Amino acid sequence: MEPIIISGIEVSNKIKDEIALDVELLKEKGIKIPHLAAVLVGEDGASRTYVNAKVKACERVGFNSTLIKFDSSIGEEELLEEIDKLNTNNDIDGFIVQLPLPKHIAEQKVTEAISPEKDVDGFHPVNLGKMLLHLPGFLPATPSGIVEMLRHYDIPTSGKNCVVIGRSHIVGSPISVLLSLNDYPGNCTVTLTHSRTEKLSEITAKADILIVAIGKPEFVTADMVKEGATVIDVGIHRIEDASKKSGFRLIGDVKYGEVAPKCAYISPVPGGVGPMTIASLLKNTLLAVKLKE
Ligand code: NAD
Repeated sequence: MEPIIISGIEVSNKIKDEIALDVELLKEKGIKIPHLAAVLVGEDGASRTYVNAKVKACERVGFNSTLIKFDSSIGEEELLEEIDKLNTNNDIDGFIVQLPLPKHIAEQKVTEAISPEKDVDGFHPVNLGKMLLHLPGFLPATPSGIVEMLRHYDIPTSGKNCVVIGRSHIVGSPISVLLSLNDYPGNCTVTLTHSRTEKLSEITAKADILIVAIGKPEFVTADMVKEGATVIDVGIHRIEDASKKSGFRLIGDVKYGEVAPKCAYISPVPGGVGPMTIASLLKNTLLAVKLKE
């Protein structure tokens, strides 16, 4: 089978074009241009790359952006104070704190310190609660991006068997909620699997839609996938590759080469979920401005 490749680059570019048009309209109406701030703690290479990509995406759609860097030695109290400053800064419409944080800082405390009205990553309990109740709010960026991919490619979801691998708060758990909501994309019968799941391959082999967010390189092999399935690969891993200028290349949680021929649709790594996460973050930032108006 020749699969349809779900291009996160194409879909995210379409979303960014729409956002850029909205920004022009805001300008015409004399409404404030959206301003996203990103907080980066420490020098983690992958985190720096993600944050830089987010700032660059802001430029592309005409948002203002601010990158705030702290040394990894910053204390938890000091970081919470900085978050409070962002909460009360009227010029900033939304902000994110790039995860992971150094071990001495409790991520949950930081997440809960962000004002829900500025929580454009959608990780605050208030926004997760709104998502569960199907109320308007900020959806977590990666799951929201996956939903937009399914919508763009018109992939049927109602009544479909959806299996999610991984139950993290930022990907696995929220996407399992979104795809079980009474909506399109949604109305799936969802099975959320995790590290304690028994006979995982038997479960995944029955999935019409398989969403993989396990964080293990090329974990999903062809024998775990149903013929004609839709596979969304969330994982991102850098592996050394001397043939590349950067010295590495990116792979996902799915063994793409052997899984793709079995699929009706598959998202690649890179160029799949990654760009969609950024587009969703921009969408949330625009929403933050619109909700204030
Ligand atoms: P995580 O490490 O927080 O969670 C992994 C989950 O996998 C856990 O819930 C665990 O129970 C489950 N798991 C572990 N072993 C398992 C097994 N043998 N069988 C079934 N389940 C098992 O991961 P995360 O934060 O959700 O990220 C997952 C991957 O997605 C990572 O590679 C991460 O880098 C990537 N990611 C990508 C984006 C993006 O924008 N593309 C965004 C977030 C995360």
